[in-house]
Amino acid sequence: MANIDGKALAQKFKDRLKDEVNFLKGHGVKPGLAVVLVGDNPASQVYVRAKGKACEEIGVNSFQHTLHKEIAQEELLWQISELNNDPNVHGILVQLPLPDHLNEKVILEAILPEKDIDGFHPLNIGRLVINQPLFQPCTPLGIMKLLEGTGVDISGKEAVVVGRSTIVGKPIALMLLHKNATVTICHSRTLNLEEKVGKADILIAAIGKPAMIKGDWIKQGAIVIDVGINRLGDGKLVGDVEFEEASKRTAFITPVPGGVGPMTIAMLMYNTVEAARRHGLRIRERRP
Ligand code: NDP
Repeated sequence: MANIDGKALAQKFKDRLKDEVNFLKGHGVKPGLAVVLVGDNPASQVYVRAKGKACEEIGVNSFQHTLHKEIAQEELLWQISELNNDPNVHGILVQLPLPDHLNEKVILEAILPEKDIDGFHPLNIGRLVINQPLFQPCTPLGIMKLLEGTGVDISGKEAVVVGRSTIVGKPIALMLLHKNATVTICHSRTLNLEEKVGKADILIAAIGKPAMIKGDWIKQGAIVIDVGINRLGDGKLVGDVEFEEASKRTAFITPVPGGVGPMTIAMLMYNTVEAARRHGLRIRERRP
């Protein structure tokens, strides 16, 4: 069994991105990320702070917009339009969840696809489906990098994804499919989950229920990526997989914390820098 060190891999990515940011600055482009936070959800505040810190670390300009929790949808759409038109902003992220009175779909669709570094715009999701990605969602992209880091060939493997959300389950299933895995997607109505999990050479758990996947369900030699982040009553963070028991069987497993989480932020930086690079090239191409 080997733990997959998400923190170390994320650091490697960020170090490479620092060089890329310096290169872009040398060509007159300073990558900028706008983060829009509506309201005062404490978990969202923590995530937004972590994103700001990562920007600082690699030299990306970070523009934080904290808006009142009762902001009208129309007003928020205007704010997004401002950011769409701001040449210093290459990536726009609206921190989810939004308060109930705001229509998440409308808000996410208002972000220009070429600034949608979260990869949630329908156009970017569609591009992922046809395997012509522009920006891919950060958590599944990070998972693919973690899998690549193991050196294991994904082609032909049985991959089981538990969870079918638009931000994790569905996109990671597509990414694995594009790498020629045979993919099974499970969810809350799946029957015989244990049996399905037991077939997985690669298991992705993205459920949000502490230790729901039992260690003795796991196939010997499997790779387990635990996306779940669950806070227990005593404050401890755990994943969706029973780590101790599972790790007796796995070839590779991600810990929680220190697995998928750090890679998600590294991939957000990766997409932001990529957005800035594309922007820089577009400007050059337009020059007479
Ligand atoms: P969602 O709540 O959107 O989706 C959870 C999925 O789990 C749903 O598809 C649901 O099925 C399925 N599910 C629920 N109960 C069961 C069950 N008993 N058996 C099988 N499937 C079940 O969550 P997210 O995808 O947004 O996130 C999942 C977890 O990953 C959370 O803990 C979240 O905090 C974490 N996360 C971590 C990130 C990171 O960077 N490390 C980033 C994003 C998320 P159904 O569709 O039928 O309801």
